[in-house]
Amino acid sequence: MSTEAPEKITLPPLRFSRKRKWAADQAIGFLMEQSVGNSDVISLAAGLVDQESLPVEETRNALNELLSDDRFARQMLQYGTTAGYEKLRDQLLVHLANLEGCSVEQLQIDRDQIIVTTGSQQFLSLVGEVLLDPGDICLVAAPTYFVFLSLLDGLGAKAIAIETDADGMRTDALEAQLQRLETDGQLERVKLIYAVSYYENPSGISLSEERRPELVEIARRWSKRNRILVLEDAAYRELQYDGPQHPSVWGFDDEHESVILTQTFSKSYSPGLRVGFGVVPRELVDPIFDRKSNEDFGSANFNQHLISSVMDSGLYESHVEIVRNSYRKKRDRMLRAADQYFSHLDGVNWVHPHGGLYVWMSLPETIETGFSSRLFQVATHEERVMYVPGELFYADDFFRQRNQLRLSFGVQTLEGIDEGMKRLANAVASIL
Ligand code: PMP
Repeated sequence: MSTEAPEKITLPPLRFSRKRKWAADQAIGFLMEQSVGNSDVISLAAGLVDQESLPVEETRNALNELLSDDRFARQMLQYGTTAGYEKLRDQLLVHLANLEGCSVEQLQIDRDQIIVTTGSQQFLSLVGEVLLDPGDICLVAAPTYFVFLSLLDGLGAKAIAIETDADGMRTDALEAQLQRLETDGQLERVKLIYAVSYYENPSGISLSEERRPELVEIARRWSKRNRILVLEDAAYRELQYDGPQHPSVWGFDDEHESVILTQTFSKSYSPGLRVGFGVVPRELVDPIFDRKSNEDFGSANFNQHLISSVMDSGLYESHVEIVRNSYRKKRDRMLRAADQYFSHLDGVNWVHPHGGLYVWMSLPETIETGFSSRLFQVATHEERVMYVPGELFYADDFFRQRNQLRLSFGVQTLEGIDEGMKRLANAVASIL
């Protein structure tokens, strides 16, 4: 037998898929690293929910009850179905009817059109997968949820930003863009209009009541050869603190042919459970079902039973009320701190959100906020406070502003919010 060491083989590099390349360089990874690796940094960046109001007691009680019945416990520990736990989907019809202020019959959909997913993020991804080919177009607000923008990148799809104002996405600008795309022979590539309709992440702005039916009407009217769908992301719908209570965009789509709606239990109950759901036009039921069958043939059955139980017992509704009260205080504290520490700084302004988790701040145009900016360095390394640079939330350079920041009041305590805002103001003042 030879004692010589075997010759070392150098393997060729891995060849990744195109999808892998499109999904590279995720900003979210960098942000998580920065905040997890620096424990003395106050994070106003993390979109995490409030640690203290997580439903520990409610969940413990529900689980004790569920697991005390062997037959039921076995059922929830078993695989579930691809579209989700039937009882939960029936409850979701009732939940949706309550939010829409109508009866289940008036919703004019049935259980099959509800798909339970692993957070609403998975639902967004499933919709993208079944509708978008590389080069297809999705119209989005400027600014909007950056993880959805990355998702579009990951599919090789193109996001085109539409101007927004205090009432959300401008419907006149949306029409003008559709007109331009038609003139350029690109209309057939437009598949989706993505709208975070309640308390947009990052701007905190909701689409006005007037624009909601307009959005549906525009999607229908511009569906000339191809159907254009509105993808309504209502992730923050239940986190309302004051201001008007708007009906969903979905509710204005009488035929339920043009709007897809998604909501989540992440913000209103617990993100750790990863339970969200989508409501789809009939023609999308099979495509989403087939795609989900390939991915996981069903989201965690155990967690769906838990959500179903807390909805049944009324614990869910009472918990949402607790969460709203807690966030309302946090929002007020952040706005008060903004007044206290920023109002004397020229050219700094911010949006007063009526719900959601974020305060959107604009600095004078000369101050950049990006990862490589001086402000970001001073804030994270000297003042020890983190924020999310506003530029990440723009789909393209046309509307991109580099002087904005997203501040989250979700995860910090009241004192943490105050201290974080003070530190941030110090960082801004030092650059000014
Ligand atoms: N949509 C928006 C606008 C969000 O902000 C988030 C979470 N940050 C999601 C969807 C996804 O949340 P989840 O998957 O936890 O439901």
